[in-house]
Amino acid sequence: MSYLARNYNRKKLAFTKGKGSYLFSNKGKKYLDFVQGIAVNSLGHSHPKLNKVLNKQSKKLWHVSNAFIIPEGEQLAKKIAKKTFADFVMFQNSGTEATEAAIKVARRYFFSLGKPKKNRILCIKNSFHGRTLAAIYASGSKKMTEGFGPKVSGFDHFKFGDHKSLKKLITKNTAAVMVEPVMGEGGIKVIPDWCLKGLRKLCNEKNVLLILDEVQCGIGRTGDFFAFERSKVKPDIVPIAKGIGGGFPIGAVLMNKKVALCMTSGTHGSTFGGNPLAMQIGNTVIDIISKKSFLRNVQKNSKYFFDHLVKIKKKYPKIIKEVRGRGYLIGLQLYSDQTNFISKLMDNKLLTIRAAENVVRILPPLNVKKQELNKALMIINKVCSSY
Ligand SMILES: *Cc1c(COP(=O)(O)O)cnc(C)c1O
Repeated sequence: MSYLARNYNRKKLAFTKGKGSYLFSNKGKKYLDFVQGIAVNSLGHSHPKLNKVLNKQSKKLWHVSNAFIIPEGEQLAKKIAKKTFADFVMFQNSGTEATEAAIKVARRYFFSLGKPKKNRILCIKNSFHGRTLAAIYASGSKKMTEGFGPKVSGFDHFKFGDHKSLKKLITKNTAAVMVEPVMGEGGIKVIPDWCLKGLRKLCNEKNVLLILDEVQCGIGRTGDFFAFERSKVKPDIVPIAKGIGGGFPIGAVLMNKKVALCMTSGTHGSTFGGNPLAMQIGNTVIDIISKKSFLRNVQKNSKYFFDHLVKIKKKYPKIIKEVRGRGYLIGLQLYSDQTNFISKLMDNKLLTIRAAENVVRILPPLNVKKQELNKALMIINKVCSSY
């Protein structure tokens, strides 16, 4: 019997080792891992450079309090600031802490301007921003909030794509709009660039902050460092996590100067957030992803993969309804429940994971090899043909 709480319905599969795109089970079987810890192991399993840095730093210094200067964190924050819209960075340990801190920053910003009532956050219905109390009510999902009342107030919701209700729901008390540029858990739904542009314009007109949750779609996952980059939009606040640690828990809130200055001494903190061990790993991940050819390869190979998935869809138009997403954040939307399809992929040694709306989510590591993509395509094709 398992002494772990029952809050997960786990597959009967355990692993002892990972290497690149592959996981090795305790029964000696080799799986092509296109889950990668849900977009976390951005560079695959046991990347030699990450192993080296982890080992080296583990012998020097793991953890010191944020009461002291942490040079490794100063360095990572600087790299992020030089690379992105951000002027300041606050380190956390997870995605939900990052989104929660983003909400705090937005509220505190208007508080600091003498507008404490301007504190409501407008989100997409059935989005995903994490599992803390505020984050589940921000997500606005019945399933996630059931039984966890009283409700955390201060959140409003509009339906994905419903511009009319979005405009109507922005009031003088709205502090921020918070959306995922590509909804991950929600079913790999991309907000088109023109919508993000329109949203930025609307936020400017209404004096509302724009929070773009890049926890899943950020750090190169879509082929750009951030999913919103192609729209040329500049957000005010961006929570990140998953991919930045390459498997080590790191979260962060990125902010422009305008809002960041409201976070004065004592307004927020984290015991573990930004410790030297985490920061050295983050520094290494960002160095690798920032190499010129790295994201170009993600763009090129992910396009190849996507185009071939579309071919499979055309071959099996009664099984696959849509291939969607960007870069290596891909969803195969099926006509029926995806559970069986995912099991069959697993039987054929390809690991994928579900998302809402009958979506099979496919998340290869960003440095996946073309030959591994071909192998996955073959398995997906085979499973389709078995129906
Ligand atoms: C995963 C995720 C979170 C929550 O991250 P945790 O590390 O699980 O707390 C928040 N927002 C988005 C968009 C996510 O995909």
